[in-house]
Amino acid sequence: MTNVLVINSGSSSLKYQVVDATTGIAAATGLIERIGLAGGRLIHERGAAGRSGAETTEWQIDAADHTVAVEQMQRAFTELGPDLADMDLAAIGHRVVQGGARFGGPVLVTEEVKQIIDDLADLAPLHNPPNLAGIEAAQRAFPDLDHVVVFDTAFHLSMPARASNYALNAAVARQYRIRRYGFHGTSHSYVARQAAQFLGKRDSDTNVIVLHLGNGASATAVAGGASIDTSMGLTPLEGLVMGTRTGDIDPAVALYLSRHAGMGIDEIDDLFNRRSGMLGVTGHQDMRDVIEAWEAGNPDAELGLDLYTYRLRKYLGSYLAVLGRVDAVVFTAGIGENSPDIRLRTMSGLDHLGMGIDPARNLERKPGVRDISSESARVRTLVIPTNEEWEIARQTMEVVLAPGEHEPRALP
Ligand code: ADP
Repeated sequence: MTNVLVINSGSSSLKYQVVDATTGIAAATGLIERIGLAGGRLIHERGAAGRSGAETTEWQIDAADHTVAVEQMQRAFTELGPDLADMDLAAIGHRVVQGGARFGGPVLVTEEVKQIIDDLADLAPLHNPPNLAGIEAAQRAFPDLDHVVVFDTAFHLSMPARASNYALNAAVARQYRIRRYGFHGTSHSYVARQAAQFLGKRDSDTNVIVLHLGNGASATAVAGGASIDTSMGLTPLEGLVMGTRTGDIDPAVALYLSRHAGMGIDEIDDLFNRRSGMLGVTGHQDMRDVIEAWEAGNPDAELGLDLYTYRLRKYLGSYLAVLGRVDAVVFTAGIGENSPDIRLRTMSGLDHLGMGIDPARNLERKPGVRDISSESARVRTLVIPTNEEWEIARQTMEVVLAPGEHEPRALP
């Protein structure tokens, strides 16, 4: 019995998947959109996503809130299959974005755990409240099953203080819980483990730099299976250039805009998080559109790609210095897995660091883990498809099998 129903509940969407924690094979995957809004829809795919025999059904639905969304998900399983009653579910695994300093790993959902997730809402106002709404709706719908939470931040709680602290006034930092938390933890930990397996090494002997390049993007230095530094901070704004976010920027830009452009806090938040990054520089958020514009000779697209890959190289260099020995650089997520242009620009001219990719291998398209390193490279460059649902299912099973070993940490 290793089937887990994984639920990722956002403010207006809910994604779900029934996945076998042992094999990673999904029996069904679904998405409910526009929760709380008119014109909602549910897309349910029965069978392993993208594989032959998979059947996709789309329904127009209205889901006033997360409770209705979970009911619609249940209806999809009953009417379209596979019937959840036949799936012998071991548990339900929930994704929660912000676990603060209390969760260094997955935990069983209890009233105390829900209270802590709620207390952390200040740090992740757009994410923790809908994550919690999804947990509560699922608990009502499946009262007899164990519910487990897997946090995006948990993998990074292993960062040493020198990486997790800002050089901010200590009293202010403590009072407002301001530190570097990092995100995309389930993806980074999954990909780092896959890399070690591919290299035929133990996690504890493997050092990798993971570049998770999706709409949001982050880099993590993983030493012996543990995150020792990551590019996102208190929020997902810090670090790499992203689809719509600036990444690293002098914080004084916000002060300057406030004093000299009369911008308010919400306007600056919107500017940095939703109107900058690739969208702000090139006019395109989607990397495929940026590359198309660049191929057509658009100078803004050229600058955007240059900013994007230059920032990546700066993080590669600093994580190389921090890690000392690096076994592999790993590209993952939408852009990392699918864009040979971004990989080539990022890794070109790094031979002196023992890194480099083979242009022909870089262009190959095949499923699974790929080694795209050049023959002479000391450090492997790998492309590894991420699978956050599988990682959530795997961690959920760890808790189900040994709940006592997974408790919230005491307050620091
Ligand atoms: P998220 O989960 O953060 O929303 P994904 O990991 O799905 O994002 O990645 C989305 C990004 O992947 C988009 O910017 C999209 O342009 C990019 N992407 C997908 N396929 C390609 C491709 N073939 N070439 C370049 N970028 C791609």
